[in-house]
Amino acid sequence: MTLAVTAQAASMIREGKEVCSFGAGEPDADTPEFIKEAAINALNEGKTKYTPSSGLIELREAIAEKLLVENNLEYSPVQVAVNCGAKHSCFNALFACCDAGDEVIIPAPYWTSYPEMVRMIGAEPVIIETEEKNDWKITAEEFENAMSPKTKMIIINSPGNPTGSVYSEEELRAIAEVAEGEDILILSDEIYEKLVYDETPHFSIGSISPAVRDLTITVGGFSKAYSMTGWRLGYTAASAEIAKAIDILQSHSTSNATTFAQYGALAALAADQAVIEDMRDEFDVRRQYMLGRLQAISNVSVVEPKGAFYVLVNIGEMGLTSVNFAEKLLSRYEVAVVPGEAFGADKTVRLSYACGLDVIKEGLDRFEKFCREH
Ligand SMILES: *Cc1c(COP(=O)(O)O)cnc(C)c1O
Repeated sequence: MTLAVTAQAASMIREGKEVCSFGAGEPDADTPEFIKEAAINALNEGKTKYTPSSGLIELREAIAEKLLVENNLEYSPVQVAVNCGAKHSCFNALFACCDAGDEVIIPAPYWTSYPEMVRMIGAEPVIIETEEKNDWKITAEEFENAMSPKTKMIIINSPGNPTGSVYSEEELRAIAEVAEGEDILILSDEIYEKLVYDETPHFSIGSISPAVRDLTITVGGFSKAYSMTGWRLGYTAASAEIAKAIDILQSHSTSNATTFAQYGALAALAADQAVIEDMRDEFDVRRQYMLGRLQAISNVSVVEPKGAFYVLVNIGEMGLTSVNFAEKLLSRYEVAVVPGEAFGADKTVRLSYACGLDVIKEGLDRFEKFCREH
């Protein structure tokens, strides 16, 4: 049903309709030029062969160094695996760690692929609905209550898609304490770590202690921070045992991520990270504008997103399913949003601000009219 809304929006755009799309799941900016140049140079230099299956050792060293300096996470380069996108990293982590019948706890609203991945490997997703008043974050208590003897792992995504929520260090410490007590693995998807806007800085749950680090599979990547979605590069960092399992899994499935793309990632990490500040600042301007506009609409509610590039709008008061809302909004006002059903939250819709401010303004004018008329 979600795909139907996306397909309808695409066909309306092809027909020449002026659709305002809040559907984007990737940054609107191009990949920075110096990163492209590094990949082009790699191609010209004949870097066109296999690398080790877990990636170029130089890149794994650079990732380990980045994790140490920025995230306070100590991993040796052999504990790092470069994968074909952070989506692949999540899949590898689940596949390497979970068996059929294991339960994986997923707070909802969740990134749409998590439950599907869990089912694909024969494990069971256990969905915990979070509350808007808790900024759509799971509490340690809710986590504890969701546990069963079959619980193998919990997935934490901070900053989160679709919520934009950022867990504080304190909240993550409480969650880690529960996980450690029961020996539960933590899949920490930190793909949006560079996109935080508030006083709550990004915190890596694995940095709490060596014991928590060894229970954690830290997932990161290049897609969102450096606008490199099409490059298909992400990484896992994990205990030596899990890293080895991921290496073996990858060597028998995809082998290494694209070689010359890895050289682009190497350049991204080597650069002064100020290069991504402009993009973040631009996102922040849009975020604040959108938040102000949405807060002024009386029959929807929003909590301030502190990271990523999404605003999750609670449409519960309007009495429509999220798909119904999205279909009506699209057909009557030519505005595309993603129905929350895709995220296990049918009383919400997700608006992305990875689009120009002009589109955001026009789209919100129409969105507001739709809500007022309903
Ligand atoms: C975009 C996204 C990813 C995947 O990123 P890729 O590196 O492009 O595979 C992973 N997790 C979340 C929550 C995302 O939104």
